[in-house]
Amino acid sequence: MDPQTVFCHNPACPARGQVGKGNIGVHSQKEQRYICHVCDKTFSESKGTVFYRLRTNKDLVVMVVTLLAYGCPIQAIVMALGLDERTVVSWQERAGQHCEGVHQHLVERPRDLGQVQGDEIRVKMQGGVVWLAMALQVSTRLWLGGVLSIYRDTKLITVLMRKVRAGALCRPLLFCADGCRAYVRAIRSVFREPVPTGKPGAPRLRPWDGVCIAQVVKQYVRKRVVGIERRLVQGTMPQVEALLRQAQGRGTINTAYIERLNATFRSRMAALVRRGRALARQTTTLHQAMYLVGSVYNFCTYHHSLRIAIHLPRNRRHWVPRTPAIAAGITDHLWTVEELLSFQVPLPRWTPPKRRGRPSKATKALIAQWCP
Ligand SMILES: [Zn+2]
Repeated sequence: MDPQTVFCHNPACPARGQVGKGNIGVHSQKEQRYICHVCDKTFSESKGTVFYRLRTNKDLVVMVVTLLAYGCPIQAIVMALGLDERTVVSWQERAGQHCEGVHQHLVERPRDLGQVQGDEIRVKMQGGVVWLAMALQVSTRLWLGGVLSIYRDTKLITVLMRKVRAGALCRPLLFCADGCRAYVRAIRSVFREPVPTGKPGAPRLRPWDGVCIAQVVKQYVRKRVVGIERRLVQGTMPQVEALLRQAQGRGTINTAYIERLNATFRSRMAALVRRGRALARQTTTLHQAMYLVGSVYNFCTYHHSLRIAIHLPRNRRHWVPRTPAIAAGITDHLWTVEELLSFQVPLPRWTPPKRRGRPSKATKALIAQWCP
């Protein structure tokens, strides 16, 4: 137990979420509990992880979640390990929710995205069809998030674009998608910035500079692609060419990278949807399964095309493998699934409660110490 690497989980504590400030001590080695000396509350070592309050052996949970993340059917796990089906489902839900939190904390951070590709998958389920829209940063193959909806409409794409925007800096950006009209509308409405005027009322929204939108429309005859039409909806050709060079080295406007990712998700999620349930319930399960698959893809799997060569003497090369998260500079090593499930998302910094009048001396001291 290392008190220097953990933070206080109490939402009311001024020291919440802050690591290495010397406020945490070991409360009990036997019970694996820490104590925060600012709020005098104790908490378990596993607080904020998937393993919190689970009585099962950690290794078994990690193994089951890993199997789920690679598309192993729940029934297979139930039969092979003799677990209750509801237990496996609840672990999957827990892991999915946890991964979504990790994703929001680490991936949805502003970065220079360069080229982004988006696409939707049609998921056939008993009781209807669900659309799964996802986006990917091309240069790092980083999965930027996904959204599920019963309808393939502007609302679905707009929610996806808000996710992309949360991870984007106001820099030149190329967006490649299929011929779906909703993308153009959604991108134009989401990638805008308010212009502060100092006057009352909602400020005017100004579109971001350098946002290019390209469409790849495929013509099919009997489920076979017979022709590809590439359209530039917004931006100029030199801008697009510069962004393509930066993201993929060479090549033309395409959606090949997101299509490859879709195939990965299809193979790892198909088995997760069970039959005989209400569609809404399945959508929630699918959402959690998607975040589990996506986070394991981003953090725990090396991507063949992301490896970099280190040139050694005598024309020899050494290949260094990388995960999308390493390529994006989020982490410096391959995470194990256990590491992903144990990652504790820190609470946001404490803000002093709003009160009338001047703050007391004690409050002032707390503000000075914990909100620099
Ligand atoms: Zn505390």
